[in-house]
Amino acid sequence: MAPCARFLIAAPITLAMTTSPQRIALVTGASRGIGKAIALRLAKDQRHVVLVSRTEGPLNDVRHAIEQGGGQASVVAADIADAKAWAAAVEAVADKHGRLDILVNNAGITKDNLSLRMTDEDWNVVISTNLTSAFVAIRAAARPMMKNRFGRIVNISSTSGVVGNAGQANYAAAKSGLIGLTKTIARELGGKGVTANVIAPGFIETDMTHNLPQQVKDQVTGAMAVKRLGTPEDIAAAVAYVTSDEAGFLTGQTICVDGGLTMC
Ligand code: NAP
Repeated sequence: MAPCARFLIAAPITLAMTTSPQRIALVTGASRGIGKAIALRLAKDQRHVVLVSRTEGPLNDVRHAIEQGGGQASVVAADIADAKAWAAAVEAVADKHGRLDILVNNAGITKDNLSLRMTDEDWNVVISTNLTSAFVAIRAAARPMMKNRFGRIVNISSTSGVVGNAGQANYAAAKSGLIGLTKTIARELGGKGVTANVIAPGFIETDMTHNLPQQVKDQVTGAMAVKRLGTPEDIAAAVAYVTSDEAGFLTGQTICVDGGLTMC
């Protein structure tokens, strides 16, 4: 039977142009290493990146690099271990831009020692810098994200937080805590368009791993499926995806970007 002629006439198709507003992304620890690579990548992906660390000079260098590439960035010098001041700084960023779309809690420190020798000071400073800072930033960012019914939260953990690591009780506890925090936030805010995920890097070539003995690096590399250390850009690529508009169905996940070291 011949098809009815009226179905052969192509109806005019109106394509709705869906342009999302420029996303405001806040990245902690953006002065060097993984945070810097994340900032450069998000700027390349057209986000306005708010660069945070304690030292303004290196942050300005990153800002210049972003601007020279045609991107947009601004600098906030803050100590994220000072919970009250840090929360106020996050609120100020959201107020200034009228929104806060992407929060990457990346800054972190290590103070390694065997548990029996670990001081209270080294325990506390690692917990406040690596874990409490993420909680207070999320609490400050949640309201503007919920208001816009869009948010992407990424917490940079570590494979140490997934499988533990001798000599890193404070660091592994903080990084493991980020995973529980992230799953809880994902459940609390998922209905408001806000996702929360963890990226857990393995061994990445940065200042943090620079001083490890070559023998240790060789051992770790040998245990990896891909047989090489990671680069900051490997982590930035994962962050770019989980913070993208199209990643709205991915939440509460821990993604180990570790060259197949743990396959967590
Ligand atoms: P990194 O090279 O040592 O850089 C750390 C960044 O955090 C710097 O920008 C530093 O800036 C900032 N920072 C530290 N304490 C801060 C504070 N109190 N307030 C504000 N900013 C602070 O470290 P990375 O290797 O890039 O690591 C980045 C993240 O990935 C960390 O959370 C780390 O635990 C995690 N990670 C790294 C590896 C690895 O192999 N490298 C593996 C697993 C997980 P200022 O010193 O200028 O403040």
